[in-house]
Amino acid sequence: GKKVAVLAVQGAFVEHERALSKLGCECVELRQGPDVRQPFDALVLPGGESTVQAKLLRELGMIDELHRRIADGMPVMGTCAGLILLAKTVEEGVPGAGDPTAEVVGGAVAPGAFGTLPVTVRRNAYGRQLGSFHAKAPFSDIEGDVPMTFIRAPYIAEVHEGATPLATVDGRIVAVRAGNQLGVAFHPELDDDLRIHELFVSLIG
Ligand code: GLN
Repeated sequence: GKKVAVLAVQGAFVEHERALSKLGCECVELRQGPDVRQPFDALVLPGGESTVQAKLLRELGMIDELHRRIADGMPVMGTCAGLILLAKTVEEGVPGAGDPTAEVVGGAVAPGAFGTLPVTVRRNAYGRQLGSFHAKAPFSDIEGDVPMTFIRAPYIAEVHEGATPLATVDGRIVAVRAGNQLGVAFHPELDDDLRIHELFVSLIG
């Protein structure tokens, strides 16, 4: 079977392991720095809190080795916070002062922890009241709609050269692929539909 490493320092990693196991993958958890040195065929960066994940990745000394493998072409899927870690550019969405439903843009801009995915991602991009929501939308090369659970999600504000949008919800790009890198703003591991994980596993040679 294919060996998929799941970043397991924080966030929703167990649900990814469940989905990947159903597809016949062997999962290994990356918890400690040395874990990144073992062989694996692909990597999942789960949802959670990207600022915490980035800090832990740095403190545990995991970034350089994982970055090297991603740059070398190893398949990687980042979901929600994981998408933020991959993004070349991350904008801070600022919750609207006074109007909590308003989407306010204009926060700080910085590269994601890996910065390998040619997109600009806006963090916490939906107003507070839309913090969490569910949608169903078409997804490139998948038949019918895909269920999508969004939790304080980012969206993809700009797609740069080399990246292709795969899905939009309410006119906003929520999934993208750039070669070996797949980034989705939602949590595919929280719905029963395994097709996003299937797509990811199909990228493994
Ligand atoms: N809001 C989180 C962040 O910015 C992402 C939320 C999630 O992964 N569900 O990191």
